[in-house]
Amino acid sequence: MDAQAFREEVRRWLAENLALVGSRFPEASVHDADYRRAFEDHLCAAGWSGLGWPAELGGRGLPVELIAIFHEEYARAGAPQGINMIGHGILGPTLLLFGSDAQKRRFLPKILSNEEIWCQGYSEPGAGSDLASLRTRAIRDGEHYVVSGQKIWTSFAHVADWCFVLARTDAEAPKHKGISFLLVDMKSPGITVRPIRQMNGEQEFNEVFFDEVRVPVENRVGEENAGWGIAMAAASYERATYFVPRLVRMEEELRDLVEVARGMRRDGRPVSEDAVIRDRLARSYIDVQALKLHARTMLAAAARHEQPGPEGSFIKLLWSESHQRLLALAMDILGPEAALGPQEPAAQRGRWWQREHLWSMAETILAGTSEIQRNVVGERVLGLPR
Ligand SMILES: Cc1cc2nc3c(=O)[nH]c(=O)nc-3n(C[C@H](O)[C@H](O)[C@H](O)COP(=O)(O)OP(=O)(O)OC[C@H]3O[C@@H](n4cnc5c(N)ncnc54)[C@H](O)[C@@H]3O)c2cc1C
Repeated sequence: MDAQAFREEVRRWLAENLALVGSRFPEASVHDADYRRAFEDHLCAAGWSGLGWPAELGGRGLPVELIAIFHEEYARAGAPQGINMIGHGILGPTLLLFGSDAQKRRFLPKILSNEEIWCQGYSEPGAGSDLASLRTRAIRDGEHYVVSGQKIWTSFAHVADWCFVLARTDAEAPKHKGISFLLVDMKSPGITVRPIRQMNGEQEFNEVFFDEVRVPVENRVGEENAGWGIAMAAASYERATYFVPRLVRMEEELRDLVEVARGMRRDGRPVSEDAVIRDRLARSYIDVQALKLHARTMLAAAARHEQPGPEGSFIKLLWSESHQRLLALAMDILGPEAALGPQEPAAQRGRWWQREHLWSMAETILAGTSEIQRNVVGERVLGLPR
Protein backbone atom coordinates (compact mmCIF):
# COMPACT_ATOMS: atom_id res chain seq x y z
CA MET A 1 0.00 0.00 0.00
CA ASP A 2 1.18 3.52 -0.74
CA ALA A 3 2.59 5.09 2.43
CA GLN A 4 1.17 8.55 1.79
CA ALA A 5 -2.32 7.20 1.03
CA PHE A 6 -2.18 5.12 4.21
CA ARG A 7 -1.10 8.16 6.24
CA GLU A 8 -4.01 10.18 4.91
CA GLU A 9 -6.46 7.38 5.62
CA VAL A 10 -5.22 7.09 9.23
CA ARG A 11 -5.30 10.86 9.70
CA ARG A 12 -8.84 11.16 8.35
CA TRP A 13 -10.12 8.23 10.40
CA LEU A 14 -8.58 9.59 13.58
CA ALA A 15 -9.94 13.10 13.08
CA GLU A 16 -13.50 11.84 12.49
CA ASN A 17 -13.52 9.21 15.21
CA LEU A 18 -11.79 11.23 17.91
CA ALA A 19 -14.54 13.78 17.47
CA LEU A 20 -17.20 11.06 17.53
CA VAL A 21 -16.00 9.23 20.67
CA GLY A 22 -14.85 12.49 22.30
CA SER A 23 -18.39 13.87 22.07
CA ARG A 24 -19.48 11.12 24.52
CA PHE A 25 -16.83 12.32 27.02
CA PRO A 26 -16.99 16.13 26.81
CA GLU A 27 -15.26 16.65 30.18
CA ALA A 28 -12.61 13.92 29.87
CA SER A 29 -8.86 14.42 29.54
CA VAL A 30 -6.75 12.01 27.47
CA HIS A 31 -5.80 10.33 30.76
CA ASP A 32 -9.37 9.48 31.75
CA ALA A 33 -9.64 5.67 31.98
CA ASP A 34 -13.23 5.42 30.67
CA TYR A 35 -12.44 7.58 27.65
CA ARG A 36 -9.25 5.63 26.98
CA ARG A 37 -11.13 2.33 27.09
CA ALA A 38 -13.99 3.62 24.93
CA PHE A 39 -11.65 4.93 22.24
CA GLU A 40 -9.59 1.74 22.27
CA ASP A 41 -12.76 -0.38 21.92
CA HIS A 42 -13.86 1.81 19.01
CA LEU A 43 -10.43 1.54 17.36
CA CYS A 44 -10.44 -2.25 17.64
CA ALA A 45 -14.00 -2.55 16.34
CA ALA A 46 -12.90 -0.58 13.27
CA GLY A 47 -10.04 -3.03 12.61
CA TRP A 48 -7.10 -0.90 13.76
CA SER A 49 -5.65 -3.59 16.06
CA GLY A 50 -3.17 -6.36 15.26
CA LEU A 51 -1.69 -4.22 12.49
CA GLY A 52 1.43 -6.38 12.18
CA TRP A 53 -0.17 -9.73 13.04
CA PRO A 54 -0.72 -12.31 10.29
CA ALA A 55 -4.02 -11.99 8.43
CA GLU A 56 -4.92 -15.67 9.06
CA LEU A 57 -4.98 -14.90 12.79
CA GLY A 58 -7.17 -11.83 12.43
CA GLY A 59 -4.39 -9.24 12.00
CA ARG A 60 -3.70 -6.94 9.06
CA GLY A 61 -0.19 -8.13 8.20
CA LEU A 62 1.10 -4.60 7.59
CA PRO A 63 4.83 -3.91 7.13
CA VAL A 64 6.70 -2.10 9.91
CA GLU A 65 6.90 1.17 7.91
CA LEU A 66 3.10 1.47 7.82
CA ILE A 67 2.76 0.48 11.48
CA ALA A 68 5.21 3.28 12.33
CA ILE A 69 3.09 5.73 10.31
CA PHE A 70 -0.01 4.63 12.21
CA HIS A 71 1.71 5.24 15.60
CA GLU A 72 3.07 8.58 14.40
CA GLU A 73 -0.33 9.84 13.29
CA TYR A 74 -1.97 8.46 16.43
CA ALA A 75 0.41 10.45 18.64
CA ARG A 76 0.15 13.55 16.46
CA ALA A 77 -3.65 13.50 16.66
CA GLY A 78 -3.42 13.50 20.47
CA ALA A 79 -5.45 10.28 20.70
CA PRO A 80 -5.65 8.68 24.15
CA GLN A 81 -3.38 5.74 24.94
CA GLY A 82 -5.28 2.48 25.31
CA ILE A 83 -5.50 0.56 28.55
CA ASN A 84 -4.85 -2.80 26.86
CA MET A 85 -1.43 -1.91 25.49
CA ILE A 86 0.10 -4.86 27.32
CA GLY A 87 -2.33 -7.22 25.59
CA HIS A 88 -1.82 -5.70 22.14
CA GLY A 89 1.88 -4.89 22.45
CA ILE A 90 3.34 -7.74 24.53
CA LEU A 91 1.08 -10.72 25.16
CA GLY A 92 -0.38 -10.94 21.65
CA PRO A 93 3.00 -10.98 19.90
CA THR A 94 4.31 -13.46 22.49
CA LEU A 95 1.44 -15.87 21.81
CA LEU A 96 2.01 -15.51 18.07
CA LEU A 97 5.57 -16.75 18.60
CA PHE A 98 5.26 -19.21 21.46
CA GLY A 99 1.56 -20.00 22.04
CA SER A 100 -0.05 -23.33 21.15
CA ASP A 101 -2.70 -23.34 18.41
CA ALA A 102 -5.38 -23.70 21.10
CA GLN A 103 -3.97 -20.69 23.01
CA LYS A 104 -3.87 -18.59 19.85
CA ARG A 105 -7.49 -19.50 19.04
CA ARG A 106 -8.64 -18.83 22.60
CA PHE A 107 -6.84 -15.59 23.40
CA LEU A 108 -5.88 -13.64 20.26
CA PRO A 109 -9.39 -12.78 19.00
CA LYS A 110 -10.35 -11.26 22.36
CA ILE A 111 -7.21 -9.11 22.38
CA LEU A 112 -7.95 -7.93 18.85
CA SER A 113 -11.52 -7.04 19.82
CA ASN A 114 -10.37 -5.59 23.18
CA GLU A 115 -12.85 -7.77 25.05
CA GLU A 116 -10.11 -9.01 27.40
CA ILE A 117 -7.68 -6.61 29.05
CA TRP A 118 -4.25 -7.95 30.07
CA CYS A 119 -1.70 -7.11 32.71
CA GLN A 120 1.88 -8.28 33.21
CA GLY A 121 2.81 -10.01 36.48
CA TYR A 122 6.61 -9.98 36.52
CA SER A 123 7.99 -7.62 39.21
CA GLU A 124 7.92 -8.58 42.88
CA PRO A 125 8.98 -6.68 46.01
CA GLY A 126 12.36 -8.49 45.90
CA ALA A 127 12.66 -8.92 42.13
CA GLY A 128 12.64 -5.93 39.76
CA SER A 129 15.95 -5.30 38.03
CA ASP A 130 17.01 -8.76 39.13
CA LEU A 131 13.78 -10.30 37.86
CA ALA A 132 15.10 -13.87 37.84
CA SER A 133 15.11 -13.77 41.67
CA LEU A 134 11.32 -13.90 41.66
CA ARG A 135 9.75 -16.09 44.36
CA THR A 136 6.12 -16.53 43.32
CA ARG A 137 5.81 -20.30 43.04
CA ALA A 138 3.62 -22.58 40.96
CA ILE A 139 3.36 -26.13 42.28
CA ARG A 140 1.98 -28.82 40.01
CA ASP A 141 -1.15 -30.58 41.27
CA GLY A 142 -2.50 -32.90 38.56
CA GLU A 143 -3.79 -30.81 35.67
CA HIS A 144 -3.30 -27.53 37.56
CA TYR A 145 -0.56 -25.34 38.99
CA VAL A 146 -1.19 -23.88 42.42
CA VAL A 147 0.23 -20.34 42.38
CA SER A 148 1.17 -18.40 45.53
CA GLY A 149 3.14 -15.19 45.93
CA GLN A 150 3.07 -11.44 45.40
CA LYS A 151 3.54 -9.20 42.38
CA ILE A 152 3.93 -5.43 42.49
CA TRP A 153 3.72 -2.42 40.13
CA THR A 154 1.26 -4.43 38.02
CA SER A 155 -0.12 -1.82 35.62
CA PHE A 156 -3.87 -2.14 34.86
CA ALA A 157 -4.35 -5.16 37.19
CA HIS A 158 -7.38 -3.37 38.66
CA VAL A 159 -9.15 -3.49 35.28
CA ALA A 160 -7.52 -6.58 33.76
CA ASP A 161 -9.35 -9.80 32.90
CA TRP A 162 -6.12 -11.80 32.54
CA CYS A 163 -2.53 -11.62 33.74
CA PHE A 164 0.57 -13.32 32.37
CA VAL A 165 2.64 -14.36 35.32
CA LEU A 166 6.22 -15.51 35.73
CA ALA A 167 6.29 -18.14 38.48
CA ARG A 168 8.91 -20.54 39.81
CA THR A 169 8.14 -24.14 38.89
CA ASP A 170 11.51 -25.62 39.93
CA ALA A 171 12.99 -24.26 43.14
CA GLU A 172 16.16 -26.38 42.79
CA ALA A 173 17.15 -25.26 39.26
CA PRO A 174 19.48 -22.27 38.60
CA LYS A 175 17.32 -19.17 38.95
CA HIS A 176 16.76 -18.45 35.22
CA LYS A 177 15.95 -22.07 34.51
CA GLY A 178 13.11 -22.84 36.94
CA ILE A 179 10.55 -20.24 35.76
CA SER A 180 7.35 -20.82 33.77
CA PHE A 181 5.08 -18.40 31.87
CA LEU A 182 1.42 -18.79 32.95
CA LEU A 183 -1.81 -17.18 31.77
CA VAL A 184 -3.95 -16.49 34.83
CA ASP A 185 -7.63 -15.58 34.86
CA MET A 186 -7.94 -12.55 37.17
CA LYS A 187 -11.36 -13.82 38.33
CA SER A 188 -9.78 -16.95 39.85
CA PRO A 189 -10.41 -17.43 43.58
CA GLY A 190 -7.38 -16.42 45.67
CA ILE A 191 -6.38 -13.25 43.77
CA THR A 192 -6.39 -9.91 45.60
CA VAL A 193 -5.61 -6.65 43.80
CA ARG A 194 -4.58 -3.67 45.91
CA PRO A 195 -4.20 -0.32 44.08
CA ILE A 196 -1.11 1.88 44.51
CA ARG A 197 -1.57 5.61 44.01
CA GLN A 198 1.13 7.40 42.00
CA MET A 199 2.55 10.76 43.01
CA ASN A 200 0.55 12.55 40.29
CA GLY A 201 -2.63 11.37 42.03
CA GLU A 202 -3.57 8.82 39.36
CA GLN A 203 -3.89 5.14 40.07
CA GLU A 204 -2.69 2.86 37.33
CA PHE A 205 -0.63 0.16 39.01
CA ASN A 206 -1.22 -2.30 41.83
CA GLU A 207 -0.02 -4.98 44.18
CA VAL A 208 -1.39 -8.40 43.25
CA PHE A 209 -1.51 -11.26 45.76
CA PHE A 210 -1.89 -14.91 44.72
CA ASP A 211 -3.09 -17.25 47.44
CA GLU A 212 -3.17 -20.84 46.16
CA VAL A 213 -4.64 -19.80 42.82
CA ARG A 214 -5.39 -22.78 40.57
CA VAL A 215 -4.22 -22.35 36.98
CA PRO A 216 -4.90 -25.07 34.37
CA VAL A 217 -1.69 -26.58 32.95
CA GLU A 218 -3.05 -25.82 29.45
CA ASN A 219 -2.53 -22.11 30.31
CA ARG A 220 1.24 -22.51 30.45
CA VAL A 221 2.95 -20.95 27.42
CA GLY A 222 5.89 -23.04 26.16
CA GLU A 223 7.55 -25.79 28.14
CA GLU A 224 7.64 -25.98 31.92
CA ASN A 225 10.71 -24.07 33.24
CA ALA A 226 11.26 -22.37 29.85
CA GLY A 227 9.46 -19.13 30.84
CA TRP A 228 12.55 -16.93 31.09
CA GLY A 229 13.42 -17.15 27.38
CA ILE A 230 9.78 -16.39 26.48
CA ALA A 231 9.69 -13.36 28.80
CA MET A 232 12.93 -11.99 27.33
CA ALA A 233 11.71 -12.42 23.76
CA ALA A 234 8.41 -10.76 24.72
CA ALA A 235 10.33 -7.79 26.15
CA SER A 236 12.11 -7.15 22.87
CA TYR A 237 8.98 -7.45 20.74
CA GLU A 238 7.84 -4.32 18.90
CA ARG A 239 10.72 -2.34 20.39
CA ALA A 240 11.21 -0.76 17.01
CA THR A 241 7.78 0.87 16.92
CA TYR A 242 7.43 1.28 20.71
CA PHE A 243 9.24 4.62 20.76
CA VAL A 244 7.70 6.13 17.64
CA PRO A 245 4.65 7.66 19.40
CA ARG A 246 6.78 8.78 22.35
CA LEU A 247 9.18 10.57 20.03
CA VAL A 248 6.39 12.28 18.15
CA ARG A 249 4.85 13.42 21.44
CA MET A 250 8.20 14.68 22.69
CA GLU A 251 8.80 16.69 19.54
CA GLU A 252 5.35 18.26 19.86
CA GLU A 253 5.89 18.99 23.54
CA LEU A 254 9.12 20.77 22.69
CA ARG A 255 7.35 22.85 20.03
CA ASP A 256 4.58 23.76 22.53
CA LEU A 257 7.13 24.60 25.18
CA VAL A 258 8.95 27.04 22.90
CA GLU A 259 5.60 28.82 22.43
CA VAL A 260 4.99 28.86 26.18
CA ALA A 261 8.46 30.37 26.72
CA ARG A 262 7.77 33.02 24.08
CA GLY A 263 4.44 33.91 25.69
CA MET A 264 5.60 34.10 29.33
CA ARG A 265 7.26 37.20 30.71
CA ARG A 266 9.62 37.33 33.64
CA ASP A 267 11.55 40.41 34.81
CA GLY A 268 9.90 42.39 32.00
CA ARG A 269 10.95 40.24 29.04
CA PRO A 270 9.91 36.97 27.37
CA VAL A 271 11.28 33.90 29.13
CA SER A 272 12.47 32.69 25.70
CA GLU A 273 15.10 35.46 25.77
CA ASP A 274 16.73 34.08 28.89
CA ALA A 275 20.12 32.70 27.81
CA VAL A 276 20.01 29.67 30.12
CA ILE A 277 16.46 28.76 29.02
CA ARG A 278 17.52 29.11 25.35
CA ASP A 279 20.48 26.86 25.98
CA ARG A 280 18.29 24.21 27.60
CA LEU A 281 15.71 24.40 24.80
CA ALA A 282 18.51 23.91 22.27
CA ARG A 283 19.73 20.89 24.23
CA SER A 284 16.22 19.37 24.08
CA TYR A 285 16.06 20.06 20.35
CA ILE A 286 19.33 18.17 19.87
CA ASP A 287 18.00 15.30 22.03
CA VAL A 288 14.90 15.03 19.82
CA GLN A 289 16.94 15.06 16.60
CA ALA A 290 19.34 12.41 17.94
CA LEU A 291 16.42 10.22 19.00
CA LYS A 292 14.79 10.52 15.58
CA LEU A 293 17.99 9.32 13.91
CA HIS A 294 18.27 6.34 16.26
CA ALA A 295 14.60 5.49 15.77
CA ARG A 296 15.06 5.58 12.00
CA THR A 297 17.98 3.15 12.26
CA MET A 298 15.92 0.80 14.42
CA LEU A 299 12.95 0.93 12.09
CA ALA A 300 15.17 0.17 9.10
CA ALA A 301 16.57 -2.86 10.93
CA ALA A 302 13.05 -4.01 11.84
CA ALA A 303 11.96 -3.61 8.21
CA ARG A 304 14.83 -5.99 7.29
CA HIS A 305 13.39 -8.42 9.91
CA GLU A 306 16.49 -8.20 12.07
CA GLN A 307 16.10 -9.14 15.73
CA PRO A 308 16.18 -6.07 18.00
CA GLY A 309 19.59 -5.94 19.67
CA PRO A 310 21.00 -4.22 22.77
CA GLU A 311 20.81 -0.84 20.97
CA GLY A 312 17.19 -0.73 22.19
CA SER A 313 18.61 -0.03 25.65
CA PHE A 314 20.40 3.01 24.34
CA ILE A 315 17.30 4.56 22.81
CA LYS A 316 15.24 3.81 25.96
CA LEU A 317 17.93 5.48 28.09
CA LEU A 318 18.25 8.53 25.85
CA TRP A 319 14.48 8.96 25.49
CA SER A 320 13.61 8.63 29.19
CA GLU A 321 16.39 10.91 30.44
CA SER A 322 15.93 13.57 27.77
CA HIS A 323 12.16 13.53 28.28
CA GLN A 324 12.68 14.14 32.00
CA ARG A 325 15.02 17.04 31.14
CA LEU A 326 12.43 18.57 28.82
CA LEU A 327 9.66 18.39 31.43
CA ALA A 328 11.89 19.72 34.21
CA LEU A 329 12.62 22.64 31.87
CA ALA A 330 8.86 23.12 31.42
CA MET A 331 8.51 23.48 35.19
CA ASP A 332 11.25 26.15 35.23
CA ILE A 333 9.74 28.03 32.29
CA LEU A 334 6.28 28.06 33.88
CA GLY A 335 7.74 29.06 37.25
CA PRO A 336 5.02 29.53 39.88
CA GLU A 337 2.30 28.71 37.34
CA ALA A 338 3.52 25.10 37.33
CA ALA A 339 2.30 24.75 40.91
CA LEU A 340 -1.07 26.54 40.65
CA GLY A 341 -4.13 24.88 42.11
CA PRO A 342 -7.05 23.86 39.86
CA GLN A 343 -9.17 26.91 40.83
CA GLU A 344 -6.69 29.33 39.25
CA PRO A 345 -7.56 30.53 35.71
CA ALA A 346 -4.10 29.70 34.35
CA ALA A 347 -4.03 26.32 36.07
CA GLN A 348 -5.16 24.27 33.09
CA ARG A 349 -1.86 24.71 31.29
CA GLY A 350 0.28 24.39 34.44
CA ARG A 351 -1.57 21.27 35.52
CA TRP A 352 -0.96 19.55 32.19
CA TRP A 353 2.80 20.14 32.30
CA GLN A 354 2.95 19.26 35.98
CA ARG A 355 1.21 15.93 35.36
CA GLU A 356 3.62 15.08 32.54
CA HIS A 357 6.61 16.11 34.67
CA LEU A 358 5.52 13.93 37.59
CA TRP A 359 4.75 10.98 35.30
CA SER A 360 8.13 11.25 33.60
CA MET A 361 9.80 10.24 36.88
CA ALA A 362 8.57 6.69 36.18
CA GLU A 363 10.13 6.61 32.73
CA THR A 364 13.69 5.98 33.93
CA ILE A 365 12.38 3.07 36.06
CA LEU A 366 9.78 1.20 33.99
CA ALA A 367 10.90 -1.35 31.37
CA GLY A 368 14.38 -1.45 32.98
CA THR A 369 15.98 1.36 34.98
CA SER A 370 18.61 3.72 33.56
CA GLU A 371 21.34 1.96 35.54
CA ILE A 372 20.37 -1.38 34.03
CA GLN A 373 20.26 0.14 30.52
CA ARG A 374 23.73 1.64 31.12
CA ASN A 375 25.00 -1.79 32.15
CA VAL A 376 23.61 -3.29 28.92
CA VAL A 377 25.05 -0.51 26.76
CA GLY A 378 28.43 -0.72 28.54
CA GLU A 379 28.75 -4.47 28.30
CA ARG A 380 26.94 -5.39 25.10
CA VAL A 381 27.25 -2.32 22.86
CA LEU A 382 30.59 -0.85 23.94
CA GLY A 383 32.14 -4.20 24.97
CA LEU A 384 33.35 -2.90 28.34
CA PRO A 385 34.38 -5.50 30.94
CA ARG A 386 31.64 -6.71 33.35
C1 LIG B 1 4.98 3.21 35.90
C2 LIG B 1 5.49 1.81 36.08
C3 LIG B 1 4.76 0.75 35.58
C4 LIG B 1 5.22 -0.57 35.78
N1 LIG B 1 4.45 -1.61 35.31
C5 LIG B 1 4.83 -2.87 35.54
C6 LIG B 1 4.01 -3.98 35.13
O1 LIG B 1 2.94 -3.78 34.55
N2 LIG B 1 4.40 -5.23 35.43
C7 LIG B 1 5.57 -5.48 36.08
O2 LIG B 1 5.89 -6.66 36.29
N3 LIG B 1 6.39 -4.47 36.50
C8 LIG B 1 6.04 -3.18 36.25
N4 LIG B 1 6.83 -2.13 36.68
C9 LIG B 1 8.01 -2.44 37.50
C10 LIG B 1 9.35 -2.18 36.84
O3 LIG B 1 9.63 -3.15 35.86
C11 LIG B 1 10.41 -2.17 37.96
O4 LIG B 1 10.12 -1.06 38.79
C12 LIG B 1 11.82 -2.05 37.44
O5 LIG B 1 12.20 -3.22 36.76
C13 LIG B 1 12.84 -1.78 38.58
O6 LIG B 1 12.71 -2.71 39.60
P1 LIG B 1 12.53 -2.25 41.13
O7 LIG B 1 11.47 -1.22 41.19
O8 LIG B 1 12.34 -3.48 41.94
O9 LIG B 1 13.89 -1.53 41.53
P2 LIG B 1 15.25 -2.25 41.97
O10 LIG B 1 15.57 -3.33 41.00
O11 LIG B 1 15.14 -2.63 43.41
O12 LIG B 1 16.29 -1.08 41.79
C14 LIG B 1 16.53 -0.08 42.81
C15 LIG B 1 17.68 0.79 42.34
O13 LIG B 1 18.88 0.00 42.22
C16 LIG B 1 19.44 0.11 40.92
N5 LIG B 1 20.03 -1.17 40.52
C17 LIG B 1 19.47 -2.40 40.63
N6 LIG B 1 20.29 -3.34 40.11
C18 LIG B 1 21.39 -2.70 39.63
C19 LIG B 1 22.58 -3.11 38.97
N7 LIG B 1 22.80 -4.40 38.67
N8 LIG B 1 23.49 -2.16 38.61
C20 LIG B 1 23.27 -0.84 38.89
N9 LIG B 1 22.16 -0.40 39.54
C21 LIG B 1 21.22 -1.30 39.90
C22 LIG B 1 18.26 0.46 40.03
O14 LIG B 1 18.68 1.10 38.84
C23 LIG B 1 17.45 1.38 40.94
O15 LIG B 1 17.95 2.69 40.89
C24 LIG B 1 6.43 -0.81 36.48
C25 LIG B 1 7.16 0.27 36.98
C26 LIG B 1 6.72 1.57 36.79
C27 LIG B 1 7.53 2.70 37.34
